[in-house]
Amino acid sequence: MKTTAFLDHWTACPDCHPRHDRYCSVGRELWVQDQVEWFMSQPDDIKKSELAAMQRNNPVWHGVVKQRVIDAYNAQKRSTGDDQGKNNVYVLRGNDR
Ligand SMILES: [Zn+2]
Repeated sequence: MKTTAFLDHWTACPDCHPRHDRYCSVGRELWVQDQVEWFMSQPDDIKKSELAAMQRNNPVWHGVVKQRVIDAYNAQKRSTGDDQGKNNVYVLRGNDR
């Protein structure tokens, strides 16, 4: 699990301080993956509301995480052949990064 990789990293890394939202580049990437994994495990309405909350609480990284969630979401839709369900695709504008 990526979640474990993230945990293993920041607990061992002297430059990563989750409580202060400070990470080295490796830690940040693992953090993003961890966020995306969490979002992808949630129902779509929770994805939306939590992304909106993140936009307020962590505007610096919201755009990055949102884009990665969108990419993962679209990849998942493609792999399940469910790209007909347009109302499920909440995606799409890249202009609010
Ligand atoms: Zn680190």
